[in-house]
Amino acid sequence: MKATQFSKPIQVGILGFGGLGQAAARLLTLKQEMRWVAVGDRQGYAYASKGLNVNAAIEACQEGRTVAELPGGVSSDRSIEELLSLGNAVEGYFLALPNLPNTFMASVARQFIQAGWQGVLVDALKRTSAMEQLLQLQDELQAAGITYLSGCGATPGLLTAASALAAQSFIEIHSIVITFGVGIVNWEAYRATIREDIGHLPGYSVETARLMTDGEVAALLNKTNGILKLENMEHADDIVLELAGICPRERVCVGGLVDTRNSKKPLSTNVQVTGRTFEGSISTHTFTLGDETSMAANVCGPAFGYLKAGLALHRQGCYGLFSAAQVMPQFVR
Ligand code: NAD
Repeated sequence: MKATQFSKPIQVGILGFGGLGQAAARLLTLKQEMRWVAVGDRQGYAYASKGLNVNAAIEACQEGRTVAELPGGVSSDRSIEELLSLGNAVEGYFLALPNLPNTFMASVARQFIQAGWQGVLVDALKRTSAMEQLLQLQDELQAAGITYLSGCGATPGLLTAASALAAQSFIEIHSIVITFGVGIVNWEAYRATIREDIGHLPGYSVETARLMTDGEVAALLNKTNGILKLENMEHADDIVLELAGICPRERVCVGGLVDTRNSKKPLSTNVQVTGRTFEGSISTHTFTLGDETSMAANVCGPAFGYLKAGLALHRQGCYGLFSAAQVMPQFVR
């Protein structure tokens, strides 16, 4: 029953070095079981077998610059492809990439398959339709020797996994309602997250949000006082819980409030799981995240917990696509 022990630190890469990618790298400085060795952004990449320097990397990325400016960094507009040519020096990647367009993450997965890379991939993608594209790659991922854990951020991710656990008290699930509160000081620290959220607003789509200039995003946020109110979102929590056999996807509802001008959460993130017990009682389990935990903490922590679990699966020869409700994340020390 002992936790999985790895004889040496897991060599981890982070693809995408914006808000979440940088938070992920900072988190890894506090972990002994993982070593951050590779990073890529839109303009280049860097690799260091002994570990990358987080402060230098964050410094290199200020004001639209790139990780390519790190010592040993390389400028490239094909950073994922070129990092993959390093082969299996990196055992697992956290894909902190924007899913813009909505087909992007599936195209990245295909790149890994075509490169013949073997290892663990973890994403924090959000849309049901994006996960459906990955599901179509299940057989190819398996044949390629890739263990891919999808939807492993906060929602989908932590809250979906909590729902799967809470469901065990019931014989029938009536509803799963996820309500998130996010507070960030400045939308530009998380451009993709905010653009993707705008894509859920009435009158917008992923494509219209992708094409908005930064000025247009700022103008929209000015109109709403920096707040985005999101209702009935197309979130992959629904398909994950349906595939896990917990309830039909129509019973899962995701919404939330994002304040882009204040680090304080506008509401406490929570999930409410309502169902009927075997004795006939109707009840609701509620799981609420601490208000002091940031979006970054609730996304990056689970992502690496799933990466560790994924590596244990990979070493046992378990390949293919897995969800946050199928696998228990392992705590990274
Ligand atoms: P961001 O805009 O801050 O950063 C994106 C990074 O990706 C940048 O470094 C950019 O250079 C890089 N990038 C873009 N295209 C690339 C390419 N082709 N090759 C290599 N690098 C590329 O993004 P963010 O706000 O940190 O969000 C990342 C993702 O995380 C988004 O898709 C967002 O929706 C998701 N997210 C998920 C959850 C969750 O709970 N599941 C929560 C928050 C964010």
